[in-house]
Amino acid sequence: MTTNAAEFERARAAMPGGVNSPVRAFGSVGTTPRFFVSASGPYVTDVEGREYVDLVGSWGPAIVGHAHPTVVQAVQDAAARGLGFGASTPGETALAELIEARVTRDGARPIERVRLVSTGTEATMTAIRLARGATGRDLIVKFAGHYHGHSDGLLAEAGSGVATLAMPGSAGVPAAIAAQTLVIAYNDLDAVREVFAARGDDIAAIIVEAAPANMGIVPPAHGFNAAIADIAHAHGALLILDEVLTGFRVGPAGWYGIDPVPFAPDLITFGKVVGGGLPLAALGGSAALMELLAPLGPVYQAGTLSGNPLAVAAGRATLDLMDAAAYARIDAAATTIADAASAALADAGVTHVVQRSGSLFSIQFAETAPHDYDTVKAQEAFRWPPFFRAMLEQGVSLPPSVFEAWFVSAAHDDAAVSRIVEALPAAARAAAEA
Ligand code: PMP
Repeated sequence: MTTNAAEFERARAAMPGGVNSPVRAFGSVGTTPRFFVSASGPYVTDVEGREYVDLVGSWGPAIVGHAHPTVVQAVQDAAARGLGFGASTPGETALAELIEARVTRDGARPIERVRLVSTGTEATMTAIRLARGATGRDLIVKFAGHYHGHSDGLLAEAGSGVATLAMPGSAGVPAAIAAQTLVIAYNDLDAVREVFAARGDDIAAIIVEAAPANMGIVPPAHGFNAAIADIAHAHGALLILDEVLTGFRVGPAGWYGIDPVPFAPDLITFGKVVGGGLPLAALGGSAALMELLAPLGPVYQAGTLSGNPLAVAAGRATLDLMDAAAYARIDAAATTIADAASAALADAGVTHVVQRSGSLFSIQFAETAPHDYDTVKAQEAFRWPPFFRAMLEQGVSLPPSVFEAWFVSAAHDDAAVSRIVEALPAAARAAAEA
């Protein structure tokens, strides 16, 4: 039988860092990445035959649990009919209709048209091009610590993997492109007002994570999304709400549906859950805006694999499974795990907070709840690697970075939750000794 170490050695000789996405290399947690061969429900199994309770959930998509029979059947049925046609299919329309119908609040329906793409990066990249095309302006306002994928203009102070690697951004981004993105502090309305006072006529859009989850969980201040929507609109700019991570996860209508103060985004981006574990993402908005996209309008966007029938089948099956009872199960499991983590850390004498946005939560090793990227980075992040390793050794797979959310699924039943809860005290003691 092979080992994780042997697989990693082989992988490093074949792929940069042995991975196809940086955080998978476990660089910041000081242990060998696990190579998985199968997954079922809340569990993943590595090449050594070891099973872990999984709190990564493929970084979000696995919201109904891994390899859910209904989703697998839908994908198998679709595959048997053809892997892709490069032409329209009825399933794409059905998924678009599902997204449009679900994202509503108090009768408002911000999504009248949807375009399906393959990754969250493409969704935000296209939303930005659309905002620029619609407004005839170039500048984008983004918040430090928010991650919107790896397109050139969005990598400045981008949280997530770049935060884990302590990189300021990325080499290879032309200065002229970086200069089109104005990065400001999150949860700071004065900073938003100032940037619009200075450059308001040139700003096409604000892009914001609906409830940031790529610097750990940092909830928006009460009414923050509504306030930035108003500021953007007062200056003729758009609000792009990035729900790639939160969409269809924190509730049937995403964060849009549960923000304590309702607000009106112009474009919304989705990924992860909407593709049910296969490569699919989406953007949506009013018909007037979305129909600026080719072939109707002047803003170009295309994709060989866009609306792939297998991904559409997985997305539809997953959304259909996510009924009120499934959301309630996730919320309850998240509460149990978050409370147990906090209790274990308190017992071990570790200074910490647990921040939550709906069912998303993460631990931060800080005295008071971080509210922006600077306060997130000021925490005692060195306590995460020993905490992470202790959980892994006890058979719980957490995100390998303190800057990521813990992803609970509807498949995390009492048995899986108990295994997590039982592992927490030893991990908390390891964090205390760091
Ligand atoms: N936006 C947000 C909020 C995300 O969390 C992510 C991925 N973690 C992306 C965009 C990019 O999505 P993808 O990795 O599918 O390109």
